[in-house]
Amino acid sequence: MQRAFKTKLKLNNKQKTLMAQHAGYSRWVWNWALNLWKEAALAGLKPSANKLKKFYTHHVKPQYTWQSTLSSRVYQFAFLHLGEAFSRFFQGIAQHPKFKKKGRNDSFTLDNCGKVMEFSGTRLKLPFIGWVSTYEPLPEIQTKRVTISRVANSWYISVAYEFESESTPKSREYLGVDVGVKVLATCSDGTVFHNPRAYKQAQNKLARLQRELSRRQIGSNNRNKTQLKLAKVHPIANIRKDAIHKLTSWLCKNHAVIGLENLNVSGLLKNHKLAGAIADAALYEIRRQVEYKSEWYGCQLVFADRFYPSTKTCSSCGHVQEMPLKERVFNCEACDYTADRDLNASLNLERYAEGFSV
Ligand SMILES: [Zn+2]
Repeated sequence: MQRAFKTKLKLNNKQKTLMAQHAGYSRWVWNWALNLWKEAALAGLKPSANKLKKFYTHHVKPQYTWQSTLSSRVYQFAFLHLGEAFSRFFQGIAQHPKFKKKGRNDSFTLDNCGKVMEFSGTRLKLPFIGWVSTYEPLPEIQTKRVTISRVANSWYISVAYEFESESTPKSREYLGVDVGVKVLATCSDGTVFHNPRAYKQAQNKLARLQRELSRRQIGSNNRNKTQLKLAKVHPIANIRKDAIHKLTSWLCKNHAVIGLENLNVSGLLKNHKLAGAIADAALYEIRRQVEYKSEWYGCQLVFADRFYPSTKTCSSCGHVQEMPLKERVFNCEACDYTADRDLNASLNLERYAEGFSV
């Protein structure tokens, strides 16, 4: 099965320039070749990507010394892609190839002269470019080519690879996961994933500044100052990403069926806007990660219906009762069962997953 993995690159300025130069090179060659193709076709000739590439290699490229400082694989792929684009056009399944504009769909493709490249983790060695980092770890991948493209001001890498689901041995069949505010996640086997300390500090600071902001008069200097401070605290999402990776890898490697809340969860959080936003952001990221990791490690995901009252239901007898956010312990009014609020919710999600798994 062919799969592609696309993820954001973490680059320094020098690397960003190198990426832009290669994308520019790719675009330059594409436009040069498309122009000549059109002229040749008008003159009644039958151009092909291969003929154009030969001519280019021997007679054009040597005139542009700047091209010799960049990877020559880039122009090989530009011709290949143009040939493929014309072939799709002649088959009637695509429009006539167009000239590329700077800043729009900037991209280029690289390979290792046909040799297999092996990637894993967050550090990748690319031919010619050298070592680059990614924000999230790649699975163990073998590939023959990579494409690097720009979206807004960020660069992304796409890796096509042959995919074989490598199902890991599971230590537990069903697991429910409650994503929280106080802790990152509580699992139905009792495992708790805490938020990183740096994250908690940032979160406290954020809460304090938001209270401060609400006291400041609109348009006042002090309000602007507070807003500036707020803008500086925000990348808290990144602090937590590593912790979320640990959580999602552990979940998908060790459990066959995982029950999670759906996005847009508990109406209970509505009163606490900040708390709600934070839990939603975590859930969103967790969901994004488990969706691809469940394929890597072979496990099944069950998302609870958004109206499923995982927090309000007794995991022992099924009784449903109100659970205000300040209540940290679930005390069942019907059967006297007592459990930590989040653990109770995760147990319900485990049961939910058991009922819906296929
Ligand atoms: Zn009960």
